[in-house]
Amino acid sequence: MEFFGHIIDGQEVASVDGATMDDVDPYTREVWATIACGGKEDADRAVAAARRAFDEGPWPRMGYEKRQALLHRLADLMEEHADELAMADTRDMGKPITQALHDVARSAWNFRFFADHARLTAAETYPMDSGHHAYSRFDPAGVVVAISPWNFPLMLATWKVAPALAWGNTVVLKPAEDTPVSMTLVARLAIEAGFPPGVLNVVHGYGPDSAGSALTANPDVDRITFTGESGTGKIIAAAASRHLIPVSLELGGKGANIVFDDADLDNAVYWAIESIFRNAGQVCLAGSRLYVQSGIYDEFVRRYQSAAEAMVVGDPKDPSTQFSAALASEEHFTKVQSYLDPAALGGGRIITGGVGEGWSVQPTIVVDAPSDAKVVREGVFGPVAGATKFETEEEALALANATRYGLNAMVFTENLSRAHRLSAELRAGTVWVNCFFIRDLRAPFGGVGESGLGREGGTFSREFFTEPKAVVMQIDPAR
Ligand code: NAD
Repeated sequence: MEFFGHIIDGQEVASVDGATMDDVDPYTREVWATIACGGKEDADRAVAAARRAFDEGPWPRMGYEKRQALLHRLADLMEEHADELAMADTRDMGKPITQALHDVARSAWNFRFFADHARLTAAETYPMDSGHHAYSRFDPAGVVVAISPWNFPLMLATWKVAPALAWGNTVVLKPAEDTPVSMTLVARLAIEAGFPPGVLNVVHGYGPDSAGSALTANPDVDRITFTGESGTGKIIAAAASRHLIPVSLELGGKGANIVFDDADLDNAVYWAIESIFRNAGQVCLAGSRLYVQSGIYDEFVRRYQSAAEAMVVGDPKDPSTQFSAALASEEHFTKVQSYLDPAALGGGRIITGGVGEGWSVQPTIVVDAPSDAKVVREGVFGPVAGATKFETEEEALALANATRYGLNAMVFTENLSRAHRLSAELRAGTVWVNCFFIRDLRAPFGGVGESGLGREGGTFSREFFTEPKAVVMQIDPAR
């Protein structure tokens, strides 16, 4: 059985106390790897290594060009090892291998994008009429702790690690305990690429009373960036407030997907399927609340159901599989299953799908669930879509905004004015019109309400991962 250790100070090491945890493949339900399980001592060692590398090492001082070259070298190596990286995520959380390969490509792109973006946006100048010249520097913030979830193990971790490194910080990453392998492989590749020791550290372990909470309590940390559940986000924000350090939180969602009578129906059905059944709905951005205008409701639900039933369901390691029903872990399966109880459905009817063998849930569509039903209100984080009928634009807007989450929303309409109107009125960090999941890494990403705090992406990441500094110089003393 392969062993994956912590990566601390450029070395792969076991936990100080020798503790390990099993890594289970949710499709086979068998242990496929052994992982070092870190505690406070391991977390503190990793932060100390990152601190030394930041205070004394070359990384923050080598300049943008050299960092850019190393980050691109890492992206090259990730692309060369794409099959191995993708298989690690597939075995760790059961996502179809074709989707895992897509995630690898996107993760390599995260490094390339932020390497280039940092170099191109490293300063701003402000010529002043008073005979002075002002400019801003974006100096690295220091030691960044990144804590990531299990649903996109590579993509969401690199979304944090890449900008943090590009801006000259050193990093300690704690991947989710269910999906520890792919980022360990990336940290090994960073050593191979020539990253100095201590620049990218990876510590494994659990959250509460384990490596996770020890990292957030360490006073030598300068930034915490977290993606995960809203409840965990509140705990982490409280930990950050004790040292008064900035925290960025990307949290849960319960996206509304609104389809109007005038929508291109084929396009709307395609994206409605993608938005809830991709990655078996284990997506913070999932369009799990589907609102369909009454004129097309029956036709839409009919087409939606037949598209859901036409998906190739199978072994996530098989490239022909479109939907892997095995959820990421037994614990998660139990949670998703509970939303299919009659009490959670509140009178809603399951027209297709339901629980399958092992830890699996088939593509599931629920109709007629009232808006106060648990399955409609809460983030299910599984392949369960609830379809609801609406009559007017005002009604759709009110339904969409009636949630404590505000990560994203989707609107399907051919009416340009309505598209802009709703984009302005929807309470969400991202609104997709006639599409879903498309990202430009320069754009802000984050949520409102219980979906998060702060934004990352492009210059938004720059603000978070740096200490912007103003420098004002006298140029012309006569003025
Ligand atoms: P989680 O909050 O249980 O765990 C996320 C990470 O935090 C893990 O690495 C975990 O070990 C760690 N952790 C847990 N408790 C901690 C503590 N007290 N101190 C420090 N670290 C701690 O979330 P999850 O179940 O892994 O992920 C699923 C959740 O993430 C869903 O709610 C989903 O909506 C959300 N999510 C949000 C986004 C986004 O961009 N907004 C993206 C993906 C997932």
